[in-house]
Amino acid sequence: MGLETDYEIPVLTTSAEFMIQWARRSAIWPVAFGLACCAIEMMATGAGRYDMARFGAEVFRGSPRQADLMIIAGRLSRKMAPAMRRIYDQMPEPKWVISMGACASCGGVFDNYAIVQGSDQVVPVDVFIPGCPPRPEALIYGIVQLQKKIAASKLDQTPRIRIA
Ligand code: SF4
Repeated sequence: MGLETDYEIPVLTTSAEFMIQWARRSAIWPVAFGLACCAIEMMATGAGRYDMARFGAEVFRGSPRQADLMIIAGRLSRKMAPAMRRIYDQMPEPKWVISMGACASCGGVFDNYAIVQGSDQVVPVDVFIPGCPPRPEALIYGIVQLQKKIAASKLDQTPRIRIA
């Protein structure tokens, strides 16, 4: 004999994979790391006017051990590249990288021996944001694109190949 009630009990079903990816994309924690003028725009994005918190990504962490997003904000010098790579290596998996601005993405106007001509030569980059500097709206758009990428990814995906 079945249980009789006067109302229907709503039941939602989902998968563990969906829940895990939802949690990951909804609480991205960037490592506090800025290189040049683009970092000022990154700071503005975290402040009250643009309020990155609306996208769950405002908790800038002082330790790479507690972060899963690196925003490369500014030009990357060859001298700084090993330090940046070390910070990236100290971040736990899974982790993501946004290259913010023309300098980080391709060297920008600094086509010279001192600047890395694309930060993807040092770490794997998930999202590139153009501009000099990109406005906070552009960084927020990049974070939303990253969230879509995380949501569409699979848990059993092969880890990305690391460039030594
Ligand atoms: S892209 Fe423009 S604003 Fe950003 S670090 Fe380079 S020169 Fe500065």
